[in-house]
Amino acid sequence: MNMDPTGQDQGGQSSGRGRFHWWIILAFLLYAGWYYVSNRQESSLTGRTQLIATNAQQDAALGLQAYQQVLSQSQVVADGPEVAQIKQIAQRLIAVAPKVEADLAAEKGLKPTIDWSTFDWQVSVLQSDEVNAFCLPGGKIAVYTGLIPVAQSADAIAVVLGHEISHALLRHGAERMAQQHMAQIGQIAVGMAAGNMDPQQQREVMGAYGVVGQFGVLLPFSRKDESEADQIGLMLAAAACFDPQAAIPLWQRMEQQGGARQPEFMSTHPNPGNRIARLQELMPKALAMRAKYCSGASPTQ
Ligand SMILES: [Zn+2]
Repeated sequence: MNMDPTGQDQGGQSSGRGRFHWWIILAFLLYAGWYYVSNRQESSLTGRTQLIATNAQQDAALGLQAYQQVLSQSQVVADGPEVAQIKQIAQRLIAVAPKVEADLAAEKGLKPTIDWSTFDWQVSVLQSDEVNAFCLPGGKIAVYTGLIPVAQSADAIAVVLGHEISHALLRHGAERMAQQHMAQIGQIAVGMAAGNMDPQQQREVMGAYGVVGQFGVLLPFSRKDESEADQIGLMLAAAACFDPQAAIPLWQRMEQQGGARQPEFMSTHPNPGNRIARLQELMPKALAMRAKYCSGASPTQ
């Protein structure tokens, strides 16, 4: 890639050929350091420091745009008892979310930071065999009808929706965007630094960078995202008086589903056994949350 619009190499063609321009990498590292320091923020739900460069309004606008695109390409189920039930489950989770945030933040000595005014919640049920659901930034939720027979109960649907809503509350989409931005700038920097190398050398440098970027940074973050969504989602379901224990047989059924297309909440879990063990570890805390908000309610609705 050549950043000079005239197409001329300013650095002297013959002397520069074959040299790797380390100063460009240094400039990139300085930029990366500045970008990180100026865009980090602590999640009130997990206490983890996240790299987020957009504001919640920008995220919500992107979420809405993507949602409208999905809806325009899908068959939306207008009403019926299943739609009413799914909307009611979502409403219960949404209603309890600020209390859960306040509780989890207080546990870590943090202040609640979620700006609830940036969420304009909407729930759509989409006619599809896919076993899936999602919640986009800004609170745009979709549930595929294929999920209903696998979930089998309101409790299990609440666990899935709790997981999806948690991705939006945790701003995982914005975090991934900031990571992608860094990866792209890094790729450009490597490309520029290697600009005077011969094409074969350039391919090698870019190839090495790609491997590090994909497996060293992006994938572990995605798995962490899934674990966080499981954890916060379980607390939301429990605080909304659903039975969090429905999560265990649900993930076991999901595992048996298999199939070529992996649903969102299964895609980055290479080891389902680990996931179930982690959920079991979280269960006492979820049940305590449930007891706090739902005194006298029976475990099944
Ligand atoms: Zn997920």
